[in-house]
Amino acid sequence: MIQKVIVLGSGSAGLLAALTLKRRLPQLDVEIVRDPDIGVIGVGEGSTPNFVHHLFNFVGIKRKRFYDMAKPTWKLGIRFKWGPRGHFDYTFDQQLDKEYRELKVPNGFFCGETLDNASLSSALMGAGKAFIRKPNRSPEIQQWFSFHIENHNLVETLEAEANDARVRITDGRMSGAERNDNGIEAILLDDGRRLEADFFVDASGFRAELISGVLGEPFVSFDKTLFCDRAVVGGWERGDEPILPYTTAEQMSSGWCWQIEHEHHVNRGYVFSSDMISDEEAFEEFRRKNPKVPEEPRFVPFTAGHRRRPWVDNVFAIGNSAGFVEPLEATALMVVCNQSKALATILQQSTLEVSSSMRAMYNRLQDREWSLIRDFLGLHYKFNTALDTPFWQRCREETDLSGIQEVLDFYEENGPSVLIRHLLPDFVNDFGVEGFLVMLVGNRAPCRKEFKPDPKALRKWQQRCSFLAKQAKTGVDVKEALGFTRQPNWRWEDEKN
Ligand SMILES: Cc1cc2nc3c(=O)[nH]c(=O)nc-3n(C[C@H](O)[C@H](O)[C@H](O)COP(=O)(O)OP(=O)(O)OC[C@H]3O[C@@H](n4cnc5c(N)ncnc54)[C@H](O)[C@@H]3O)c2cc1C
Repeated sequence: MIQKVIVLGSGSAGLLAALTLKRRLPQLDVEIVRDPDIGVIGVGEGSTPNFVHHLFNFVGIKRKRFYDMAKPTWKLGIRFKWGPRGHFDYTFDQQLDKEYRELKVPNGFFCGETLDNASLSSALMGAGKAFIRKPNRSPEIQQWFSFHIENHNLVETLEAEANDARVRITDGRMSGAERNDNGIEAILLDDGRRLEADFFVDASGFRAELISGVLGEPFVSFDKTLFCDRAVVGGWERGDEPILPYTTAEQMSSGWCWQIEHEHHVNRGYVFSSDMISDEEAFEEFRRKNPKVPEEPRFVPFTAGHRRRPWVDNVFAIGNSAGFVEPLEATALMVVCNQSKALATILQQSTLEVSSSMRAMYNRLQDREWSLIRDFLGLHYKFNTALDTPFWQRCREETDLSGIQEVLDFYEENGPSVLIRHLLPDFVNDFGVEGFLVMLVGNRAPCRKEFKPDPKALRKWQQRCSFLAKQAKTGVDVKEALGFTRQPNWRWEDEKN
């Protein structure tokens, strides 16, 4: 029976795993071991709504403390400056996975020209507002949002929460491990300490010290679908730029560039393919687009893919040690939350005695989750016809989407029908049918079905869009909303009776 757990690493993955375990299974003895000299990766600042849900509802972090310490801003979705339309928005509410009975066809068929104002979040994003305004002028904070958070603020906040939850944190560098029939018996630190546990969580980032270093579990590469392998990262102190309520993802000659909106800081990064552009050229292009970026670049290499089995014997890998894809959809924290939740649930269900079939089931689910993420990201690239550089030519010609070929064929014949969901019986993922439809319609993926709604229905759709745009225009922007939430009389939903 598992009583003692060691989590190796205290980046966002290790801290989220330790905190989730301790809060859901308080009887466990949970210890984090981390090496401050190695430090944390220090990037990873966008998220998805499941992250918010995980923090507040599954782990039980109090909203006021989180907002005070982590200083997040709200993100309603991603604005893609991408593809032949110039831009389209992927919001966290539903734009295209929806049909209004009186309009007779799903929303996507009305978006031949534009996706603007297709939902309330899309209208708010278009107006630069985070929330609609209540009659008392304060923001109506709905559920379709996630956060932008500076990585060091997130790590500090999670560490404070972990301390409060009685997770022990030990500094030291792991340099070896002792094995037994269950996997690992103890880890060895370079100062001679030996730390035993029944269960180990490998959250050691790209170093993957336990799952790869000790257990040798192979890595499944995504190099047939995703061609980027480096990022150059930079940012600047915010001047008079408005705080946008969304992440921007903008196509570049050999990849794409993110913009993440913090209260006092703008964070930019160019994700590129080193086969297509050198570091120097990438940095030059990045700075041309963002003259405020400092002259000293920081380059971060990465490999897209995942451990074949993230859970082997008594070692459970999480975060970058389990797998990684570029942050085009800010998936890392989303996956870490899913993994933490799954681990806590499995330990609970198995009364702390995990069977091999539980482990096998988890590994199968993870394999499926990673494949869907790979294919979803690949979809962003495959149908973007806007640029004709060697990188984008390669994306169009070579991106392997065989994993979702049936979905593409269906779309080509039937257009943005929400019935596409029935092709995907195992379609449990955080992007949903919505994400796939937005990417297909947004990029004008090949489709033989004409988007020709009945003129009366089209008029109704346009009236609906205008109504949402009008409602959004009088909304509350991020800066004003932050001001409201910092007033002494503000109460978060978990502070109300
Ligand atoms: C360019 C880029 C942009 C990204 N943007 C986003 C984003 O917008 N949204 C998002 O969700 N994610 C993003 N990510 C991913 C995100 O940064 C990570 O997934 C997330 O921060 C989790 O990292 P981690 O905890 O797995 O690893 P790390 O932060 O690297 O932590 C590793 C930990 O392991 C410890 N450690 C390692 N080896 C040893 C050892 N031998 N002994 C003791 N301790 C050890 C270290 O001390 C550290 O505490 C991005 C990643 C990259 C590369």
